[in-house]
Amino acid sequence: MAVWTESEGKRVHDPFYHNFLLAKTDKCIVVDEPVIIGAGPSGLAVAACLKEKGIPSLILERSHCIASLWQLKTYDRLHLHLPKKFCELPLMPYPPGFPTYPTKQQFIAYLEAYAIQYDIKPVFNQMVVSAENEDGRWRVRTEEGTEYLCKWLVVATGENAEAVIPDIEGLEQYKGKVVHTSAYRSGDMYRGKKVLVVGCGNSGMEVCLDLCNHGAMPSIVVREAVHILPREMFGSSTFGLSVWLLKYLPIQTVDRFLLIMSRLMLGDTSRFGLERPHLGPMELKSVSGKTPVLDVGTLEKIKSGDIKVFPAINHFTKHGAEFIDGRMEEFDAVVLATGYRSNVPFWLKDTEFFSEKDGYPRRPFPNGWKGKQCLYSVGFTKRGLLGASMDATRIAHDIAQCWQVMTKQLNHPSSKLST
Ligand SMILES: Cc1cc2nc3c(=O)[nH]c(=O)nc-3n(C[C@H](O)[C@H](O)[C@H](O)COP(=O)(O)OP(=O)(O)OC[C@H]3O[C@@H](n4cnc5c(N)ncnc54)[C@H](O)[C@@H]3O)c2cc1C
Repeated sequence: MAVWTESEGKRVHDPFYHNFLLAKTDKCIVVDEPVIIGAGPSGLAVAACLKEKGIPSLILERSHCIASLWQLKTYDRLHLHLPKKFCELPLMPYPPGFPTYPTKQQFIAYLEAYAIQYDIKPVFNQMVVSAENEDGRWRVRTEEGTEYLCKWLVVATGENAEAVIPDIEGLEQYKGKVVHTSAYRSGDMYRGKKVLVVGCGNSGMEVCLDLCNHGAMPSIVVREAVHILPREMFGSSTFGLSVWLLKYLPIQTVDRFLLIMSRLMLGDTSRFGLERPHLGPMELKSVSGKTPVLDVGTLEKIKSGDIKVFPAINHFTKHGAEFIDGRMEEFDAVVLATGYRSNVPFWLKDTEFFSEKDGYPRRPFPNGWKGKQCLYSVGFTKRGLLGASMDATRIAHDIAQCWQVMTKQLNHPSSKLST
């Protein structure tokens, strides 16, 4: 990596490409290696796969640590939702003795060991605010005032970069405490309180269970139909079983099987206000990316009445909410389990590869990992860590081909003469 500290508008020399570039900020850094934005599991996976091929990389991370989503924005009782064999990063298995569903602390320890193993040292506290391609080179600017110039740019900022705060009428006049799940740690501080959890994905359902276990009185808002599946069937994970069945059977047949088993094991969820969507769980996931809820015990609490179910909110009042079925209730606090979104459209000046609407690559999995002008995306597959690992392997392979050609050119005697 070549580093210059230049004042506004100075020319900087780029030894790798033998030309000059115009620096626009106080500190301009020309980077020979690929630049990866985001030090979550996806960014780490790309860096490791590149390292294995002898290619260095530079990771820019807005936070002060790796895996900031997991370290700073998740609740204490979190375990991986999927079995560990579907959540491994490339090149390094989980240590022996890890349970099937590692805790968040175990997962973080695994990622830290991964970073050490591949000598990955991100540059922390670098919030990327813009990246645009100029004459075949990416100019990446950070809020902290540094500019990086590079050939390869890997977007690894994640599907969960920003919390989604819904626009519900009256929320601003509600007097109780409101937090997004990214700021929720445990039900401890809600003991004895009536809490409304808005959203019934995996996080919303698990937060409700956590609140119950800490002596709070949670209610959950279920706005849309939702598939709830048992986390395990016949002693193996429902996810693993579904992946296996999908190899041999059409998706609709697998869905029919899952729905029959769920009915037998969980009963008719619509009796408790949890209607099922018309499409089956796997088909819905493949069409819309909507993940079924894998039940970890919440449904029992709903059945026993420990967790109340409400339909969509009509509006918030000063001390509670009115729902679309006319019911009104007071709550001491609200937890918004309303999900996350990508932040790519805010900083990437390229609308061809990434959609400005949702911040995902326009081409769906498995073709969304590579754009033009050496732009790549990792971890936007709606397939969790498994999808990220597949992207990372492909990206490293692709960059390696180009890297080898360029390195050869650079080492060629005629190239040395010209410098
Ligand atoms: C509660 C919860 C449980 C989950 N459980 C599972 C599971 O069991 N299995 C599974 O496969 N998946 C699970 N997921 C999905 C999970 O988010 C991903 O699999 C994984 O964290 C994705 O990694 P990532 O690196 O793509 O994104 P992230 O982990 O979000 O990492 C992105 C990184 O980019 C950084 N960043 C963002 N914007 C910028 C910027 N402008 N400049 C610099 N840095 C930036 C962020 O700070 C962050 O560190 C879960 C998600 C949540 C929220």
